[in-house]
Amino acid sequence: MAFVNVPQVLKTLRNLQLIQTTTATSKKITTTSAAAGGTKATTKTTTASAAAAAAARATTTLIDKAHTRTVKEKISYCDALLRQLSSSRSRSASNYQRQSKRNSSGQTRRGNNTESFCTYATSLSRMTTMSSQEAAVASSMAQAQAEAQAQAQFTREYYDMPYQCEMSDSAPNTPGPFSVPKKYYRHAAHRVFVNRSLHLENIKYYGFDMDYTLAEYKSPQYEQLGFNLVKERLVSMGYPKEILQFEYDPTFPVRGLWFDTLYGNLLKVDAYGNILVCVHGFEFIKHHQVYELYPNKFLKLDESRVYVLNTLFNLPETYLLACLTDFFTNSKDFVRVERGIKAGDFLFTYKSIFQDVRRAVDWVHSDGDLKRRTTQNMAYYVKKDKRLPTVLSRIRESGAKLFMLTNSDYTYTNEIMSYLFDFPHGATADEPHRDWKSYFDVIVVDARKPLFFDEGTVLRQVDTKTGGLKIGTHIGPLQPGQVYSGGSCELFTKFINAKGKDVLYVGDHIFGDILKSKKIRGWRTFLIVPELVRELHVWTDECQLFAELQNLDIKLGDLYRDLDSSAKVKPDISQLRTCIRDVTHKMDMSYGMMGSLFRSGSRQTFFSSQVVRYADVYAATLLNLIYYPFSYMFRAPAMLLPHESTVAHDQAHPPPTAASTSSTSSAALEGICTGSSVTTGTTTSTSTSSSSSNVASKLSSAPRTDEVLAAVADVPATVGKDPKDLHRASSIVHTRPSTPTVVTHTHDEDYSEEEETASGPESASEQQQREASD
Ligand SMILES: [Mg+2]
Repeated sequence: MAFVNVPQVLKTLRNLQLIQTTTATSKKITTTSAAAGGTKATTKTTTASAAAAAAARATTTLIDKAHTRTVKEKISYCDALLRQLSSSRSRSASNYQRQSKRNSSGQTRRGNNTESFCTYATSLSRMTTMSSQEAAVASSMAQAQAEAQAQAQFTREYYDMPYQCEMSDSAPNTPGPFSVPKKYYRHAAHRVFVNRSLHLENIKYYGFDMDYTLAEYKSPQYEQLGFNLVKERLVSMGYPKEILQFEYDPTFPVRGLWFDTLYGNLLKVDAYGNILVCVHGFEFIKHHQVYELYPNKFLKLDESRVYVLNTLFNLPETYLLACLTDFFTNSKDFVRVERGIKAGDFLFTYKSIFQDVRRAVDWVHSDGDLKRRTTQNMAYYVKKDKRLPTVLSRIRESGAKLFMLTNSDYTYTNEIMSYLFDFPHGATADEPHRDWKSYFDVIVVDARKPLFFDEGTVLRQVDTKTGGLKIGTHIGPLQPGQVYSGGSCELFTKFINAKGKDVLYVGDHIFGDILKSKKIRGWRTFLIVPELVRELHVWTDECQLFAELQNLDIKLGDLYRDLDSSAKVKPDISQLRTCIRDVTHKMDMSYGMMGSLFRSGSRQTFFSSQVVRYADVYAATLLNLIYYPFSYMFRAPAMLLPHESTVAHDQAHPPPTAASTSSTSSAALEGICTGSSVTTGTTTSTSTSSSSSNVASKLSSAPRTDEVLAAVADVPATVGKDPKDLHRASSIVHTRPSTPTVVTHTHDEDYSEEEETASGPESASEQQQREASD
């Protein structure tokens, strides 16, 4: 898979090399034809028109390749290009008219007819070229505008919907054996998605991280800022000044990639470390090369070699690592070696480059300008939403308590939170404005998660007037309105008297916030995934690709239909495999250069597996809590294993009967095994050879590969007409099916908490026993 050098494509277009080339071609044609006479020149104009049409096609292709830029940039680029084309066409038209006037007034000198025809042809061909290119650019621009409108509409739906939740009164069109006729859902943009059932009524403490949770940074400008600052830091550390020319491209990085410090590759892997995508700089590594570097296309998660780019703060760093690798690999001053690059007597390993980038990122976050630049232009970098005070206030009204637990220092936290709560009113339009601290019962800054969930640090109190720390270790209790620094989860939960499952912690960091709090402390977890806005957008817009993949699976099944171990003919699946690869690639590209955060084709990513494992619930924003009552029970959809998702409850499994043995393949099998005659309904198969011939006849009646492929495009229209097709379609799922309507077992963990609550508080001995068993 070749990486499209978008800036280069744009630069090429900007310089209008394409137009110049086309015009030069036209000129060449007309000049040649001028030598041959005026008549020929006219004939050649037709050829020039064909060249113009080809140029128009090339223009469209290049513009489409430039599609990886943001839609806004594409529109403005098309607009500029249209203006240039329009003015060039006007000039050609004036030339044409001028020449036409001269001809009609007899101003053309005798003997110069050929030249005259030549000028005509040139002007005509230029005008044709320009018109075709204008049409192509205008069409691309219209597409981009439609896309921008759709995006704006989606964003409006997402952020500007009224507080009242909207329900869809029918189940989503999810194939699967457990499809239910009717179910109520919040609007997709307002929904909280559930991995493990969670009863909000049992939550006594709601905890919140700040960065990218309470305070969502605007993308891509915030990542752009971080990217530029890290570049500057690297240059101050001695890196070449050329790297300052790198520009952040938000369409490239995706969260959750692994950086292999040994070979300098960015890897997208599945839950087990199987490599899905491998890129060196901007060069996507081909399958056979991946096998050479990584035996079995697998890499173990060894922390001394692999760094997981887990957080949204890692996005600029991900792109910078790709830029640097690409720069050094392709620079004339450096020579590529196995584990790095060489310049004269100096060796730079990928590991050392990675360590430099890490140090620069840490410096920018702790000592650099990132915080200052963010707080100086808060409206540009931070999203502000009036629903935030409302939702926090409603949590407290429900009887639960709130705490904030952030790794940021107090001064920065105070500035960000003051901005987020900077409304003339309080939680409602009728209430007066309140200080942000009044919305929380406990506030902890400098938490140093994930260390907080292990041994932690010293707990100190913050002097909110100066932002400094008061001397001495705070030994409790924690007072409302006060701000604390550091501490440990053990002390914290002791002070607030909370058991693990009493706490719902909301954070964006899959490792620091979610994995650690869940694994070590048993907190219930709510992961914030801002990328869900974009992911859901593609999921709904590109649904035909998912349908196409399903249909290819169906067709694959068709090729093997009625074949068993006796089959001597091998169906040709090569074209189907190519189709599956193509569709998977298209799906990935609709998300961005590195594909979806959650999947690569049908396979789930490492990030995805961690979300499923450690996040009880997840959503694009914590504000989605506003659409649920605080007595709500989030119920997880059934997590079906393949033997469950492909076998419907109502699918009968009759024991083998005489009728079933009439199946040719079964007969063949039995014939081979027993070597005796087999009764097949009214006919008797007496030998292996006759069985085999039956198999062959069956095969000949089965659809051929090319017929199957030809039918793929029509499947959406035909599926559903044939009951067999319906069954097949419902047997292959790529999403989780809906929750079964009937609970078929009694060991439901959702009710354990009710029973415990109903039986009263846990006694000390019970608690000890539980803790021992934990
Ligand atoms: Mg955070």
